[in-house]
Amino acid sequence: MRILLINANREQRPYPVAPLGIACVAQALEREGHEVTLLDLTFARGVDRMVAQAVERSQPEWIGLSLRNLDNSSLASPYSYLREMEEIASCCRRASGSPLVLGGPAVSLAPRALLRRLGADYAVFGEGEEAAVELSRALGTGTEPGHVRGVVCIRAPAGPLQPARTGVSPGLTALLRHVDLQPYRRAGAPVPVQTRRGCAFRCAYCTYPSLEGSTYRTAEPAEVAEGIAAVARSTGHRAFEFVDSTFNAPLAFASEVCTAISRLPIRLHLLASGFTPASCSPELLAEMRRAGFRTLVSSPDSASDPVLEAMGKGFGREDLERAVDQVHEAGLAAMWSFLFGGPGETEATARETLQFIARRLTRRDVVFVAAGVRIYPGTPLEEL
Ligand code: SF4
Repeated sequence: MRILLINANREQRPYPVAPLGIACVAQALEREGHEVTLLDLTFARGVDRMVAQAVERSQPEWIGLSLRNLDNSSLASPYSYLREMEEIASCCRRASGSPLVLGGPAVSLAPRALLRRLGADYAVFGEGEEAAVELSRALGTGTEPGHVRGVVCIRAPAGPLQPARTGVSPGLTALLRHVDLQPYRRAGAPVPVQTRRGCAFRCAYCTYPSLEGSTYRTAEPAEVAEGIAAVARSTGHRAFEFVDSTFNAPLAFASEVCTAISRLPIRLHLLASGFTPASCSPELLAEMRRAGFRTLVSSPDSASDPVLEAMGKGFGREDLERAVDQVHEAGLAAMWSFLFGGPGETEATARETLQFIARRLTRRDVVFVAAGVRIYPGTPLEEL
C-alpha cells in the first residue's frame, strides 16, 4: 500500500524532538513492502500546503498522524496542542479521502476521545509497528481492522483496550532513513535513542507500565552502538539522548550498552533522560562516563520516605542520597526533578524535600520543581 505518515509535533521547547516512534513505524511498514512517505512537520512553514503536496505526491491509501503530547503539562502556564492537532487533521481530510489513523503517545492516553475530537477513522493504542502492519493488511484486503490488537475504531463500542506491543529497535537507522536530522542538529537537539521498552517500576502516576508492560524488552547493545556510529558518520551528530523509561535499570543491561558504545572511535555527548536512584552504582556511572555520558535527568519526585512510598517510586531517601553522592563523585551533570503535592504530601514532607535540595544538591545540579500530579486513567493513582 501507499502510506503517508505525518509527525504533527511542532513543539520546539526545550528543543525539537526528532520523531523516533513514527520513524520506527515507517521502517516496519517498509519491511513489509509498503511504499511509505514520512512528512515531518516539526520545522514546517505552511502546514496546509505541505500536507496537500505530500498527499499529491504520495497518493496515500491511508494516512497516519502521530501525536506526541496532549499539552505542555504545565499547571502554571498550560498550553493545549489540541487546536494544532485539529488543524493538521483537517488538512489531511481536505487533501485526501483515505482513512486517517491516529497514533503516538498522546493517542495512547485518550484514544477514543481523540478519535471523536479529530474525526479520524482509527487510533493505535500502544506501540505502533506491528499494529500499523496489521492495520495495512486489513485495509488492503477490505477488512475492518477492529480485530487488530491496539487498533481502536471510531464505530467500535467502548470496552477495555489491549495496548499493541512489539520488539525494540534503537530506531537510529529508521531515523536516518526517514527523517532529515540536519535541522535538529542546527537547533542543538540530541538524537533520541531507545534501548528498551517497558518498565518494572510502578510509579503511582505513570502510564508506562500499563502501556508497555512491566518487564523490559531490550535492543541488542551492539545494534545501539552501530546505530549511533551510523548517525554520527552520516550527519555529524555527536549528541544523543537515551529516552528509555529507566536507562540504568536493569543495571547489567545498561552496563552492556555502555561497553558497546565505549568501543566506538567517536567522541560523543550522551544524555540519559530516565535515571532512577533505585539502580545506581559507581561502576555503572564510571562506564557511562567512558561511553560519553555527560548528563543525566532523574525524577526522584520527593526526598521524603512517606511520599516516595505512597508514590510507589521503588526507592527511599537513603537510596536517593547515595545516588546523588555517586553522581557527584562521577562528575556527571544532573537535573533532578521534584513534584510537590503527590499522595502522602504534607507540609512537613514538602519541607523535608526542600531541605534536601538545599543541603544535598550543588551548583552543578539543575533542579526542576513542579506542583500537582495529573491523574491518568489506568494508573495506580487513579485507584487510590
Ligand atoms: S520509573 Fe519512570 S517510566 Fe517507570 S513507572 Fe516510574 S515514572 Fe514511569
